[in-house]
Order: sequence, then structure tokens, then C-alpha cells
Amino acid sequence: MKRILAAAGPVFGLALALAACGNPTPPAAPEAPAAPAEEAAVETGAAGSINVYSARHYDSDKVLYATFEEETGIRVNVRESGAPELLETMKAEGSRSPADVIIASDAGALYRFQEAGFTQGVTSERLSAAIPATLREKDGNWFGLAKRYRIIAYDPQVVSPEEVDTYADLAEPGLTGEVCVRSSTNIYNLSLMGEMIGRNGPEAAEAWARGTVGNMARAPQGGDTAQIEAVAAGECAVALVNHYYWVRLATGSPEDRMKTAKTQLSFPDQNGTGTHVNVTAAAVAANSASPDLAIRFIEFLASPKGQELLTSETKEFPIVAGAAMPEGLEQLPGFKESDFPLSELGTHQAEAQAIFDRAGWN
Ligand code: FE
Repeated sequence: MKRILAAAGPVFGLALALAACGNPTPPAAPEAPAAPAEEAAVETGAAGSINVYSARHYDSDKVLYATFEEETGIRVNVRESGAPELLETMKAEGSRSPADVIIASDAGALYRFQEAGFTQGVTSERLSAAIPATLREKDGNWFGLAKRYRIIAYDPQVVSPEEVDTYADLAEPGLTGEVCVRSSTNIYNLSLMGEMIGRNGPEAAEAWARGTVGNMARAPQGGDTAQIEAVAAGECAVALVNHYYWVRLATGSPEDRMKTAKTQLSFPDQNGTGTHVNVTAAAVAANSASPDLAIRFIEFLASPKGQELLTSETKEFPIVAGAAMPEGLEQLPGFKESDFPLSELGTHQAEAQAIFDRAGWN
């Protein structure tokens, strides 16, 4: 049995709880002086342990971690927080960060961790084979594991499908006063804008932002679910949202299903470059003490079982062929997705925000 030191605190509650009941062998008498007060000694299983910093917050992730622990004997300690808070935490921890794996949603969020120097490039034949090259960072700094699409929910009583079959339509005069969308500081909008800048150039992207701002029914506010609810309530006729928010409502309570029943979906740009795709992704942390175990964990996330557990509650799409589809996705039409390399979204992030700001998209 190996003895390691890990920072104490609520982060490692799972580890301590599992350590208490997971190992029948009585701990050996300490051979070294007691750990400093702010640190706690944690007995690892024979296979070791990893510390996962996750920006996700789903009950199904607890099952995901437990399944990995059962299959491998590797203990998983989890810190769950928003991506900005995790970034701040890692900044404060510096090179002493205990993080082994970072999980966050949107390639634009992973870019921020990579830019800050908190990820490391790793190679894994299994991950390279399982994940399309456009959905992972080229040097292995992060790997896309579940897909999400930025789509248009609309009121078919007010708007025809042809009026909303491209992102460009959101800026067209026909939709004046009909568009609902969240703040431009949101990473989903920044990444969509990143693809527009990459494909069409900054001038065309800014013209689109200005046109869309001119069509807004109200100042940007709320999350994506609030935009769908605004369409259902007749406050606007068109909303830009991630697909899974619609699917969660469509598989939710009767009240929620009544909302989605009033809307239809457009997967934009089917006759062009395809609908904007993004990912929930994982990275090996820069100062991981166990990069091999971290890679093993990410490989598990890319396995059929890991994919099912990663997407069943979130209603994202599995990336790996053969993984079970989450309930509710069968309600979506078939569609073509963009092949824009997600690594590039982050490189346009600062310009995307500047364009939104100039266009008056708060
Ligand atoms: Fe989301």
C-alpha cells in the first residue's frame, strides 16, 4: 500500500469516505512524522487515485466515477465548481495543484485552461482512434467526449422553417423584434462567434452580430432554458439555444413538455457547413502526479459505458460509435454537423467578445 498526501477539504470528502469503508486492511503504523495540520494523509487503493476538477454538476457523474472506481480500483476524488472558479482555484494552487483531470463544457472553456498553462499534451492511441480530430486539441491538451449543438428553437405559428434555417437568418430583417438570446459573455455564444469569425472573417461576423442585436425582442438575459420558455410564452419567436436544454424540457415534467410542444427546432446551415458543434471535454492537468491514471480515466470516459454515463442525464450526444443514445435524442431530426476544428474556437475568443461588445450584444 502506498501513502500519499493530499490537500484536505471538502474536495476530498469522497476519497476519505471511500478510504474509510473501501479497504479491509488496517492501515500500517505511520513511519513518517504526522502531516502538517492543513494536509491530511490519504490511503490510496493499490491502484492509486486521481483528483478530478469538474465544471459539471450532475448526479449521473457520481455513478460515472463509482463505475470507474469499481472497474479499475483507482479512487476518484472530485472537486465540482464552475469553470471560472476552477480556473481561479488552479491559479491559486499554481504548480502545487493536486488536479489530475479537468472536465469542462465547451471547447472555449478548455482553451482558457490550456492558455493558462493548466493542461498538458498527452498521447493515447485509444483516444486518437475514438475521437475525431476536429473534436480534440491537436497536441492532446484536451479531448472532446460528448457533443452539443447550438440550434434555433422557434414558434412555427409565427416563423416558417425557411426563415430560420441558417444562423445568418437571425440577422435578417424578417425577424425584427423576434429573437431571444442569452448574454454574449456566455461561452456558447463566444464559441459560435468564433466559428463565424474563422469561417467568414471578422467583418461578416460583426455584421451578423449587429443584425441579430437589431432583431432582439429583449436585452440578452437568462440561460438557454429561459430562451425556450420565452418562445413558448410568446415573448419572442426565435431563440438560439444548445440542443440539450430543449431535450431536457421535452423529456421533463408535463409543464415542461407543453413548452417544447409549442416550439420547433432548426439545425442551422444544413445546406452549408452544418450546425455548430461543441463538446464537453477532458484534459490531463499540467502538474498531474499521475498522468497515466488520468489518461486511463479519460479513456474510460470514451468507452461505451463511460459515454452512456456521461450523456444519459445531460442529453448530450455520445461521440463514440456503439454508445447507447440518451433518451429523448430520438425526438431530434437527423442533421449535418460542422467540421470546424474546435481548437480554433478559443483563438477567436477575445475578438468574438470585442465584436459582440461593439455590436451592443450585452
Ligand atoms: Fe449548458
